[in-house]
Amino acid sequence: MNAKPAAISWHERARSLDLRTRAFIEGRYVDAASGATFDSVNPATGKVLAQVAAGDEEDINRAVAAARAAFRKGVWSNLPPAKRKKVLSRFAELILEHTDELALLETLDMGKPISDSLNIDIPGAARCIQWYAESIDKVYGEVAPTGPGSLALITREPLGVVGAIVPWNFPLVMAAWKIAPVLAGGNSLVLKPSEKSPLTALRVAELAIEAGLPPGVLNIVPGYGHTAGKALALHMDVDCVTFTGSTATGKMIMQYAGQSNLKRVSLECGGKSPNIVMADYPDLDKAATAAAFAIFFNQGEVCSAGSRLLVQESVKDRVLEKVQEVGRKLAPGDPLEPATRLGAIVDETQMKRVLGYIDAGKREGASVRLGGKRVRQDTGGYFVEPTVFENVSQKMTIAREEIFGPVLSTITFKTAEEAIEIANDVVYGLASAVWTRDITVAHRMARAIRAGTVYINCYDADDITVPFGGFKQSGMGRDKSLHALEKYTELKTTWLDLS
Ligand code: NAD
Repeated sequence: MNAKPAAISWHERARSLDLRTRAFIEGRYVDAASGATFDSVNPATGKVLAQVAAGDEEDINRAVAAARAAFRKGVWSNLPPAKRKKVLSRFAELILEHTDELALLETLDMGKPISDSLNIDIPGAARCIQWYAESIDKVYGEVAPTGPGSLALITREPLGVVGAIVPWNFPLVMAAWKIAPVLAGGNSLVLKPSEKSPLTALRVAELAIEAGLPPGVLNIVPGYGHTAGKALALHMDVDCVTFTGSTATGKMIMQYAGQSNLKRVSLECGGKSPNIVMADYPDLDKAATAAAFAIFFNQGEVCSAGSRLLVQESVKDRVLEKVQEVGRKLAPGDPLEPATRLGAIVDETQMKRVLGYIDAGKREGASVRLGGKRVRQDTGGYFVEPTVFENVSQKMTIAREEIFGPVLSTITFKTAEEAIEIANDVVYGLASAVWTRDITVAHRMARAIRAGTVYINCYDADDITVPFGGFKQSGMGRDKSLHALEKYTELKTTWLDLS
């Protein structure tokens, strides 16, 4: 009888991982010019995982110079589209071939469950790069209908050097949402990953070179936001900064662009997304289960998390009972255990922030229906229970501010009109959902909600083909889909007189 193959021990694999901890500039790994490093901490243990090069202004200058030189030489931007497609496709394949290693890095660095890193993050990043690779030789220019005496060509050109600044919640996916369309557009790139999760971006940089990307086209500078990030956004030779992160930082990025060279800015910022359950929805268990995953997935560290559950008064208890039941099953566990569904919060600062919001909720009069505490403290890691608040009013802090943790604020309403008013009564407008069996109500509400995405009878449905981004202070510009290419190309008119 054949013995069953032993399950992979991710802990064992973690011990033999070879980490890339230095900046990647002009096709090779280099120390920060200052020699400084910062600690990358494993959120599941609180222990230092690696010391990573702390890039600052000087390193950003080197990376931007390398990116500019590569752009000027045309080693990437002037390659035939089919050739660029081949390189990016190979890059995507290499990411997939290294799924286990990259998933492990992601989980160790950021605290998300290994099964999510393996099944969602790494394949998602590869698919994104593959999809934009395919787009390269399928996007055409236009001829304007100017009449018989002229020919006006409308073409798209790369911007030049793009700076990307990304967060820690989906480290490689967020990086891929920038890398893929920026490179597909023919630009060079300097990417600054979050100081909380730089390891996967640093590792894939060399895979890009292996795939055939010329050195200097993709540069990665790890470092803090107020040093490396700020230097990138203020740089006079960067043509565009594409940012994903908090609204507060997004506001600074716009100022840096204004203070420097008026570089193009696109922002993917925070959210406080309403998930609206109408009493007529025939399968309230399904809606409630989706509501639980909409807030607890990825420890609630999701920009589009359904963090406000707006439920019609008559079905509140029915829905919350099910949310509670699902939440109880999602107790945080060791991120390296394949069965774990909820991992660690990214670091101590973020955990304290989440616990601070839980305290604010209690202080302001909301009631905790589930969870509310730090758990697994003996591990040294940063774990917070799935938490559900009820009796939340629209004035409370937990109804208005982005918590970015596994904390659900439940608000009741009587009519669809009231639900719309509450839904729109925040500064954000990223995602939203409506659960109803009435198609007219669904469309009416979808039109009235000021958000980049409205899900009907689902939450967090996802595909690279659809744009993603926000209204209001959730940002400007869209990631994903062909629309993202617009952010990284200039529109040019070439007018020929034919008379
Ligand atoms: P953050 O704003 O603290 O940091 C994001 C990035 O900006 C990091 O790389 C950081 O180092 C850098 N940064 C910080 N200060 C800077 C400065 N002064 N100048 C330049 N760069 C600076 O956000 P975070 O905590 O990393 O991520 C969580 C936030 O990201 C949440 O608000 C979440 O909603 C948002 N987010 C949005 C989307 C989206 O697509 N809309 C996706 C994921 C995350």
